[in-house]
Amino acid sequence: MDGPAGTGKSSVALMLAERLGLEMLDTGAMYRAAAVVAIDEGVSADDGDALAARIAEEGLAFDWSRKPPRLLLGGRDLTERIRDADVNTVVSIVARQAPLRAAMVRAQREIGRAHPRLVTEGRDQGSVVFPDAAVRFYLDAHPEVRARRRVEQMRAQGRPADYEAVLRAIQQRDRLDETRTDGPLVCPAEAQRVDTSGLTLRQVVDELERRVRACVAAGLLSPPRTAQPA
Ligand code: C5P
Repeated sequence: MDGPAGTGKSSVALMLAERLGLEMLDTGAMYRAAAVVAIDEGVSADDGDALAARIAEEGLAFDWSRKPPRLLLGGRDLTERIRDADVNTVVSIVARQAPLRAAMVRAQREIGRAHPRLVTEGRDQGSVVFPDAAVRFYLDAHPEVRARRRVEQMRAQGRPADYEAVLRAIQQRDRLDETRTDGPLVCPAEAQRVDTSGLTLRQVVDELERRVRACVAAGLLSPPRTAQPA
């Protein structure tokens, strides 16, 4: 599942995975960990080799015993740290670096081999990392809708949020993600595009679940392990 910031991908992926009895991989979290390395360890955000080397030394891993899995770098649990505002501003610069992307793509494919029944979400999952995935979705929504959702989310968490600033940050992140050479944000031709602008989270998950189950019924996928009636 791919799509720009604020389309609700993480929440949708998590809920869809729960309904279908699958695991969930948030690949944005991995790039966010690299941004934390840049900020907290003083590694330059545009030095992809140094970032990839540092992450390889420290070891980036998920704790799959938790739902959603927690993100660990070395022994440090970064699950909350990666959502801080300073990370948002650095992550799309870090994510443009080709050597870092190559390392992340390798790591994600390894995770895919170890956890083959997976809902994975990011920017390049259907286009680059898992082009053979049985079902590929591209979630989209108008930037204004995405900004409004982000503001509501931040305010619900008790964090201050300015709509105009959030909208600008989203548009800036879209631009960086769409214009990079490696793994740019694109909707692959074979992906099913879903515009979530007028839909609630629940409606999006219902729709995707319906489409996945239709693929299972058509024999394109093995049935979910904990299949429940739709
Ligand atoms: O999805 P999330 O907002 O956590 O992603 C943070 C950033 O990580 C994105 O804006 C993008 O720059 C980068 N990213 C990426 N490729 C992915 C996932 C995320 O480049 N597969």
